[in-house]
Amino acid sequence: MKYNIKKSNVPIYVTRPLLPKIEDFEKEVRAIFHSQWLTNMGKKHNTLEKKLTKILKTPHSLLFNNGTIGLMVALKALNLPEKSEVITSPFTFAATPHCISWNGLTPVFADIEADTMTIDTASIVRCITPKTSAILGVHIYGFPCHVDQISRIAFDYNLKVVYDAAHAFSTEIDGKGIGTFGNITMFSFHATKLFNSIEGGCLTFNDASLVKTIRNLRNFGIQSEEMVDEVGINGKMNEIQAALGLLNLKKFEKEKKKRASIKNMYTQAFSEISGIRIPEMPSNATSSYQYYPVIIEDNYPISRDELYLKLKKYNIMTRKYFYPLCSDYACYGEHNLRNNEKLSNANKLKNQVLCLPFYGDLEKSVINTIIGIFIKFSQ
Ligand SMILES: *Cc1c(COP(=O)(O)O)cnc(C)c1O
Repeated sequence: MKYNIKKSNVPIYVTRPLLPKIEDFEKEVRAIFHSQWLTNMGKKHNTLEKKLTKILKTPHSLLFNNGTIGLMVALKALNLPEKSEVITSPFTFAATPHCISWNGLTPVFADIEADTMTIDTASIVRCITPKTSAILGVHIYGFPCHVDQISRIAFDYNLKVVYDAAHAFSTEIDGKGIGTFGNITMFSFHATKLFNSIEGGCLTFNDASLVKTIRNLRNFGIQSEEMVDEVGINGKMNEIQAALGLLNLKKFEKEKKKRASIKNMYTQAFSEISGIRIPEMPSNATSSYQYYPVIIEDNYPISRDELYLKLKKYNIMTRKYFYPLCSDYACYGEHNLRNNEKLSNANKLKNQVLCLPFYGDLEKSVINTIIGIFIKFSQ
């Protein structure tokens, strides 16, 4: 197979938002204008919430205006002791530890596994102190955390478990929705995610008693017209977001199929290049096709940073997700000094990982160019 390298006229980014036909969206927006009901648990909102419960195969799901507010509410709803510690991964987006901090809790960073890049369970155990109250696992790139082992640890040490599934929309483990593990799971519907409602998100959980608490926290803690009983927040998804979400719900399965075929093209080519490792999904889980990460190992002739620049010269804008680590952020620096965990896998992988352009309508010629560049610098 010959891979022609050709510079793209326009920048190629790692993703492109899934969008319905504008005519279809216009129709929805007109209906919303006509109804004069713009937000506060409207018709579109409730329909989307119901549909998501089915698609995510979870007993309960509640919509949010974005995933971050959802995750903040999830931690709040579990009533964790004031100033307690939440063990999480440093190899994630800024929102994950920030949600812990916004709750007045302390994020404690555990290392990640070399293979799946999800939180390492042995490292979790080493991070546990009398102040630990919860584990916040991240299904990074859609790779599921070791949910069974994490449940076991949580049971042994009496901890709550929350999952950040921002990358794992519609992922299943042994046929079960990924949002059914742990106490609460957060999904994000941000424009860059596989399924989007421009901004948006939801929380899923099994415990029916959480429904009332989370609904209440989502709407300022307003119980009734004359009673406010909790320090809630504004987490409501509006009707325009919900309408776009409903239209995109009809499209994400097809998008996944297109991404699956791109994944095959990439993987087939990369598996023949030494020094390039493709992290694989465990066989009992399905992929969300959120990202296509590759690991540039030490025996590849040039470094990840050099390869990133080479690709950029051809207008291919890859992303170094997740560099820097959250544990390297200035705002968590002071905390780092108190953390004894070495984070060796995370520190190694942050310099080796590269996320490649990955969306359904990615042109074949661009895929060929990307593969061609990888081959060119491998020799
Ligand atoms: C996108 C993302 C979030 C935040 O979700 P928003 O909906 O943008 O607030 C949280 N965690 C991870 C890992 C993400 O990628």
